[in-house]
Amino acid sequence: MSGYITKQCLFCGDDACLRDVYARNFQDGDLDSDVFSARRVTEHFHYKMVRCANTGLLFSREILPDEALERLYAGSKVTFSGYAGIIRKDYWRPLERYAKGMRMGAALEIGCSSGFFLEELLERGFREVHGCEPSLEAKALAADTVKEGIRTGFFTDEAYPDGSFDLICSFQTLDHLSDPLAVLRTCHAKLKPGGLAYFIVHNADGLQAKVFGEKSPIIDVEHIYLFNPATLAMAVEKSGFETVKAFPISNSYPLEYWINHAPLPFKKTLLAASRGMGLSGIGVPLRLGNIGIVARKN
Ligand SMILES: [Zn+2]
Repeated sequence: MSGYITKQCLFCGDDACLRDVYARNFQDGDLDSDVFSARRVTEHFHYKMVRCANTGLLFSREILPDEALERLYAGSKVTFSGYAGIIRKDYWRPLERYAKGMRMGAALEIGCSSGFFLEELLERGFREVHGCEPSLEAKALAADTVKEGIRTGFFTDEAYPDGSFDLICSFQTLDHLSDPLAVLRTCHAKLKPGGLAYFIVHNADGLQAKVFGEKSPIIDVEHIYLFNPATLAMAVEKSGFETVKAFPISNSYPLEYWINHAPLPFKKTLLAASRGMGLSGIGVPLRLGNIGIVARKN
């Protein structure tokens, strides 16, 4: 295939570990910015996917180059701002639990969208918050308190001086990266000694993935490397970090979100029925398959 680049296992030296899992299900030219809009109702496009038999790492084998991805994300739409108030609390809770006594100096979020979690960090006492976000629309929606600290574009080594941050976090972003180990190593460099990294990703071996298989929303062209609890810790530790805690995440989205994101038939009917009964806005905490990790730079 021309125009695509081939990804390798992050952990093994050659291709001997790879097993075919899913075939590519779209044609050249099918991909546009709508397909790359975070947390949208899924299109079910995905690349050819393979799994490492040694570690369980699941990944897209032939992907678009970063320049093409950055263009697609730049035009992507914010489709989940209605849930930001719920998500920011879900994301904060593990930090409170597992990062007791952390320094609340400068924080960076990679893929910060409209900066809603940066607002949470400010409210919790962080002195300075920064974010990187490729979507222009997302930054335009940011609150005044955080907008100035948001840099448009991908997270790069040149973007910030080494040793700048006490906390670097990133949610549902690591699995969108073509070279997650390079980004993790850059995170390590940008942290101060003793600084913390905090990541949340989909669980490639979670309940949702197991039950729905290829129809799972995580089997998606946006996802390049999909981790399980073991491979997430391996990736973080290979990049120089020490794991503080790895844990499952529960997301308390409203019922209508779960219906929208489940690979179910009759979605419109179900949504209309749940709205009709006044149930669609009720928060439903579910552990469907996100995992988190807090790690330290020593
Ligand atoms: Zn492997």
